[in-house]
Amino acid sequence: MRKRTEVFLDIFREEPPDYIARLEKEALAAEVPIIRRETRDVLRYFLRTEKPQRVLEVGTAVGYSALFMMECLPADSRITTIEKVEMRLVEARKNFAAYDPEGRIRLSAGEAGQILHDLAQKKESFDFIFLDAAKGQYLSFLPDILALLAPRGILLSDNIFHEGDILESRYAVTRRDRTIHSRMREYLQALTGNEQLETLCLPVGDGITVSKKKEKA
Ligand code: SAH
Ligand code: MG
Repeated sequence: MRKRTEVFLDIFREEPPDYIARLEKEALAAEVPIIRRETRDVLRYFLRTEKPQRVLEVGTAVGYSALFMMECLPADSRITTIEKVEMRLVEARKNFAAYDPEGRIRLSAGEAGQILHDLAQKKESFDFIFLDAAKGQYLSFLPDILALLAPRGILLSDNIFHEGDILESRYAVTRRDRTIHSRMREYLQALTGNEQLETLCLPVGDGITVSKKKEKA
């Protein structure tokens, strides 16, 4: 259930392009766990004001948030997005072919832990990273994420409240949930206690953190 205050703010919420609204409807109908509208607004704000050149997303699903981000970025910005589930990759490829004819989005298929590590080894660098994958893995991704984040770059992490996983973990046992919860708490500790980062925790949507890497990290 959305909060009444969130529904109130719908009045002032900028509508996305029609095809994004269509993808949103389809994803919700198919129970694909996409970002919420409030999260979308936070992303739009940072992408429009920061204008990052190189964007990295962990957790493509069917490409909804990647396409939304593309719409918020300058034409010469590029997005790399990571997904491992074949069924989702098929849908994402289809959506990118239809709505990103210029190829501004690069889909990287495979296990995020490995891909992040490879990118870090290659000394790649990103001005904006959107972390929206398996909540239990955020902490283990963090060292490579920090290496990949450029000075003054922003790391936005979604679902820190973990409610968003309800759809995905329908068959999961409580034990697994407990592990995810304690790992998420450790992740928040790691972010807020990190000297290289300035972190803001927002109780927006399913919970978001915005971390900015300091100039000299
Ligand atoms: N950002 C998307 C939603 C992502 S849902 C949107 O808002 O449109 C999270 C996705 O992360 C799922 O599709 C899941 O398959 C993927 N994922 C989870 N853990 C992963 C991992 N370790 N490596 C790659 N993909 C992963
Ligand atoms: Mg999410």
